[in-house]
Amino acid sequence: MVFTEVPINSKNEKLVINMVKETMPKKSGTRKKTAASKPKKKKLYTVIFFQKWCKSCGLCSALCPKKIIKLDDIGHPAINDMDSCSGCRFCEIHCPDFAITIKERHPGRRRTNGKH
Ligand code: SF4
Ligand code: SF4
Repeated sequence: MVFTEVPINSKNEKLVINMVKETMPKKSGTRKKTAASKPKKKKLYTVIFFQKWCKSCGLCSALCPKKIIKLDDIGHPAINDMDSCSGCRFCEIHCPDFAITIKERHPGRRRTNGKH
């Protein structure tokens, strides 16, 4: 490739200025939003209780920092406001009978129930 030196005169001055402008970075106001600048969505969780394994000790209800685990009349846990769960897994870790599992919930995801 051969480059020839073009003298800058009034005729091609505008053309050169435009070429230089195109190579300059765009102003921050016009920059597209990146994934990092978008507000983070709150993660949602599902708390699953295996009632058959539960011995009604009440530990999960006592330790939940959000105080969302309520016990029914026979001491089995239940949650009405699942969206308030922070996913800390305190209940899952401390249940002596391994009767609790926490799963992250993706509301937009299609459920297959194990079928494809
Ligand atoms: S900590 Fe486990 S065994 Fe105790 S009430 Fe909760 S689910 Fe049941
Ligand atoms: S994961 Fe944390 S916030 Fe959610 S129910 Fe268990 S203890 Fe409560």
